[in-house]
Amino acid sequence: MSVVIHWFRRDFRLTDNTALNAAAAAGDQVIPMYILSEWQHEHPWTGAPRQEFICGALGELATNLERAGGRLIIRQGRDQCAVLEALVQESGARAIYYNRDPDPYGRAMETRIAKMAERRGIAVHACKDVGLHERDEVLTRTGTAFKVFGAYARAWVTHEKPGVGPVLTRLNTPAQITSLPLPSLATWGLKSTATIIQSGEAAARQRLTRFLEAMVSDYATSRDLPATERSSRLSQDLRWGLLSIREVYHACANVAQRARGSVKESIDRFISELTWRDFYMQVLWHYPDVLDREFLPQFRGIPWEEPGEAFHQWTRGETGFPIVDAGMRQLRATGFMHNRVRMIVAMFLCKDLHCSWRLGEQTFLRHLVDGEIASNNGGWQWCASIGTDAQPYFRIQNPWTQTARHDPEGSYIHRWVPELADVPVALLSKPPRPGASIAAGYPSPVVDHSQARDATLELFRSFRARSGK
Ligand code: FAD
Repeated sequence: MSVVIHWFRRDFRLTDNTALNAAAAAGDQVIPMYILSEWQHEHPWTGAPRQEFICGALGELATNLERAGGRLIIRQGRDQCAVLEALVQESGARAIYYNRDPDPYGRAMETRIAKMAERRGIAVHACKDVGLHERDEVLTRTGTAFKVFGAYARAWVTHEKPGVGPVLTRLNTPAQITSLPLPSLATWGLKSTATIIQSGEAAARQRLTRFLEAMVSDYATSRDLPATERSSRLSQDLRWGLLSIREVYHACANVAQRARGSVKESIDRFISELTWRDFYMQVLWHYPDVLDREFLPQFRGIPWEEPGEAFHQWTRGETGFPIVDAGMRQLRATGFMHNRVRMIVAMFLCKDLHCSWRLGEQTFLRHLVDGEIASNNGGWQWCASIGTDAQPYFRIQNPWTQTARHDPEGSYIHRWVPELADVPVALLSKPPRPGASIAAGYPSPVVDHSQARDATLELFRSFRARSGK
């Protein structure tokens, strides 16, 4: 009997799972395993909402594997390579299969696993799965990585997209291999802090179907209105691989073939968002140092302010700017924030409070269920005007006018900031007089936006002048 291991990482599904399908085709017996991390209480890139979602995904994955005749094997360890090596030794497995990770941390682990496998004389099969196009598949004519989204997207559409693979229906896991129980939040010493979206492959597929049947028609026009909730809500499903990106892409492409007018426009817009996802992953692959520093050399070392009380007010949603507070409270309550509001709160942190984008990047990763290192870093650097394709630094959004544009009826703010539930809409998009607040029990604005804006312009201009860049 030949035994192989499939290592689940961010691909918690049986449908169109590239490495899992390859493992099942290659081995008489497959050990489908997941490795629990050992940290306790706090982690710089994750928090309770995301871990709770992973627990739900693993629970449904275990059930689905049992239906196929297999068994999910849970192991735990600080060092994933050492855990895999121990399982190879115990099981006599002759190969390890996994889907490649786009992040530098995942890549570093893959390099170690390849060395371990070579030393042990077993095979490693690392599969492309996470993106439609990854690494250096989409390059400029001169063979370099794209730095600008528009040019990347024009090249991206010309590449043939990979097709959807089969659903795994039969699997045989060796009976003697033991497993730890499924994890719960207590595994990491955490308690639930948010009411998160339902996890599992079935719920994710229902979201995709619902989006394509009922919501896609006005995606292009409504996607910037957070109160309408007309975006797909698929980000955590793509982040954790409850759906394959190929399934999502081809489901959209099928609808697009029959679509006209606003539906066609909406699908094109939606596919463009999927392109951003591939774009930021390839940026991270080509320029992994974006995790440590600004992408644009002329702004490296810009002196952001030390985080003071205003930063903590931002994290709690108590800045006195209703749209910013609504976004941060949605994030804390649900582990999700609407895309347009992510942009507003991110720009506010960097350009009104002059705090480093890194603080925001880390805060988001601790609260988001969909926390994706590449997209999150790309989004933060874009909003701070120091990343690829970034907003020029002198374009500074005004949170008050953004409110009037993107929450014209105030429904989003009324929903997430109960102190403002009875405040007339017109007052939500106007700064109150200095020192006053919009409503009793609600803070007065933590800064004056126009003064903060002038200070930002000065910060960027004087930094460039001093550094001569
Ligand atoms: P839809 O509008 O339905 O979009 C469909 C899919 O396209 C999303 O599920 C997502 O996979 C992808 N997508 C959409 N917009 C972007 C984008 N700008 N960049 C990359 N991919 C995109 N997205 C994450 O998945 N994880 C993150 O950690 C993350 N952090 C962000 C941080 C900031 C500061 C900003 C401005 C954006 C961030 N985004 C992130 C992108 C975007 O906000 C979310 O993908 C989107 O809000 C998810 O909601 P949805 O699935 O309903 O999106």
